[in-house]
Amino acid sequence: MAAKIKKGDTVMVVRGKASNKGETGKVIEVSKDRSRVVIEGVNIVKKHLKEIPNVREGGIYEVEAPVHVSNVMLVCPNCKKPTKVGFKIVKEKKVLRKFRFCKKCGENIDLVSEKELRG
Ligand SMILES: [Zn+2]
Repeated sequence: MAAKIKKGDTVMVVRGKASNKGETGKVIEVSKDRSRVVIEGVNIVKKHLKEIPNVREGGIYEVEAPVHVSNVMLVCPNCKKPTKVGFKIVKEKKVLRKFRFCKKCGENIDLVSEKELRG
């Protein structure tokens, strides 16, 4: 199945810790199994990190902790509202195009894949 939330999307936290609810930010990382996302400036935790010579000093760092993907909603680039993402397939001549679309306003968000039909 295609990913509903992708790197670069703007999302809003809609469930989970009260302190994070309603916060929005840009997805900067998606876990391999797509269950968690790291959102820029959201869900900041203090983390003690060891020194890595020539890379960073040891100490307490404030970093974004991942948020479970079920706790976030995509903010539609068109209607600017947190929304559920749907997929739709459009057939144009011999090309099948799959889009993510906003279930609130119905606008396409982006192209997911394109497939040419043979024959
Ligand atoms: Zn929309």
